Amino acid sequence: MDNCLFCKIGAHEIPATLLFEDEKTLAFRDINPVAPTHILLIPKIHIENILGLDNTTALAMHSALQKIVAQENLEKGFRVVTNVGDMGGQTVFHLHWHILGGRHMGWPPG
Ligand code: 5GP
Ligand code: ZN
Repeated sequence: MDNCLFCKIGAHEIPATLLFEDEKTLAFRDINPVAPTHILLIPKIHIENILGLDNTTALAMHSALQKIVAQENLEKGFRVVTNVGDMGGQTVFHLHWHILGGRHMGWPPG
């Protein structure tokens, strides 16, 4: 999609610190981390939020998540967050899963 930041990162048109890539997904470090480990996992195709996630891409996202957790040594624990819409705190309207870890995440999230 034109003028979508994460489509451009997914297509390697805008640089990011890449951590993982396969045919359907890409993961990179968040530019403004809120935890010692703060990774964004995106589908390469433009999907606005998790409500539009199709089964094939969902499977690819989950498979990528499993690989990233092992690669980044997050087995002791981590959090996955996906913000949806203005009320959900979404600011980039291309689906992304925040993978947060490296400290105790606490609950409730605030
Ligand atoms: P949201 O608020 O939509 O759930 O999350 C968007 C996230 O994207 C934020 O955590 C923000 O720091 C991150 N972000 C925004 N622009 C960029 C960018 O250009 N590069 C990277 N790596 N992360 C970005
Ligand atoms: Zn997009």
